Amino acid sequence: MNEVMVNASTKAATTDLVLGRMENHDHEEVLFCYDRPTGLKAIIAIHDTTLGPALGGTRMWPYASETEALNDVLRLSRGMTYKSSLAGLDLGGGKAVIIGDARTQKTEAMFRRFGQFVDSLNGRYITAEDVGMSTAEMVNIQKATRNVAGLPEEMGGSGDPSPVTAYGVYCGLKAAAKTAYGSDALSGRTVAVQGAGNVGKGLVALLVKDGAKVYLTDIHDDKLAAIKAEFPAITLVKPDEIYDVDMDIYSPCALGATVNDETLKRLKCSVIAGAANNQLADEAVHGKAVMEKGILYAPDFLINAGGIINCAWERKGYNRKAALRQTEGIYDTAQRIFKASAELGIPTYLAANQAAEDRISSMRAAGMRF
Ligand code: NAD
Repeated sequence: MNEVMVNASTKAATTDLVLGRMENHDHEEVLFCYDRPTGLKAIIAIHDTTLGPALGGTRMWPYASETEALNDVLRLSRGMTYKSSLAGLDLGGGKAVIIGDARTQKTEAMFRRFGQFVDSLNGRYITAEDVGMSTAEMVNIQKATRNVAGLPEEMGGSGDPSPVTAYGVYCGLKAAAKTAYGSDALSGRTVAVQGAGNVGKGLVALLVKDGAKVYLTDIHDDKLAAIKAEFPAITLVKPDEIYDVDMDIYSPCALGATVNDETLKRLKCSVIAGAANNQLADEAVHGKAVMEKGILYAPDFLINAGGIINCAWERKGYNRKAALRQTEGIYDTAQRIFKASAELGIPTYLAANQAAEDRISSMRAAGMRF
């Protein structure tokens, strides 16, 4: 294993299918799943199981090519290893992708068959919801395997993880405020929230309760109107105006890659802290650029871990209070990452990666392996 790591880090990344790509970031296992009767085409990637079984959602997406699907599942599964490690969970990183159109190609049979493939991994991979999937599919997958999280509450599951994710983002945002301003009080701070979806609306409620001044945007006016009706003090803005508002904190809770060359010219915030995955368009370039601009960036995979923490509690016997309490730990972890970033003079995303890798390495050195 160590030998492979040394080789991988000293040679240029390869694009060889498939083992070469696995070697680039030490993926343990990739399972290609094909089933003619149901039309299922899926890839399950297990990145690292040092800390425990690989948990990560299944994404259904009409990928243009197998290579695109493979790249996505390898990237996403590795991200899950880092997210769970930083959250202090006894879980490894994995992810699955189903190649297909989530609006037209879903069938019960397809997901039951997919569940059989998940089951064939004997608990090394546990699936959950991701883009294009809902609890309905989790219910069908669960008919073929126990290795599913994110089931509805009436089935003993943990239900929608978004409120817990929103709470974790709020904790991470407060930790960033503490580091940036010396106080985590949000009263009087201006926060620009991009995305009035499941996480965004939960976050807005917490911010308003704390007395923050909130700007909110979304591409769907009905979602904005519903939140405005509940919290009349918030200010609604058009999607493209969100980068220009006079804000202290920018909170991306919609799409990835919104921290890029163009938006960085416009953003006048001191903190970026939101739920969206992969906020930095190019991690190396924009992670450094935010630091140079004096903006404190709370790494997305650190502060949006509430959802995975919630799923982890479902596996142990669901307890919402305990899940929320563990999610609060994001505050301390974020502070530790910000401190390390300042002391080492490195971007916060790198400090977070380092902390995640250190935990895995120390467990590996202690002989842990799932
Ligand atoms: P969601 O789909 O419920 O909400 C996203 C919202 O963003 C939608 O209301 C959508 O209309 C809006 N939106 C899309 N494009 C936009 C644009 N250009 N400008 C403004 N708004 C736009 O998703 P969610 O569950 O709230 O998740 C939000 C983000 O957090 C996603 O990136 C997701 O991957 C990430 N995330 C979510 C969870 C979770 O538990 N739900 C966990 C981890 C990460």
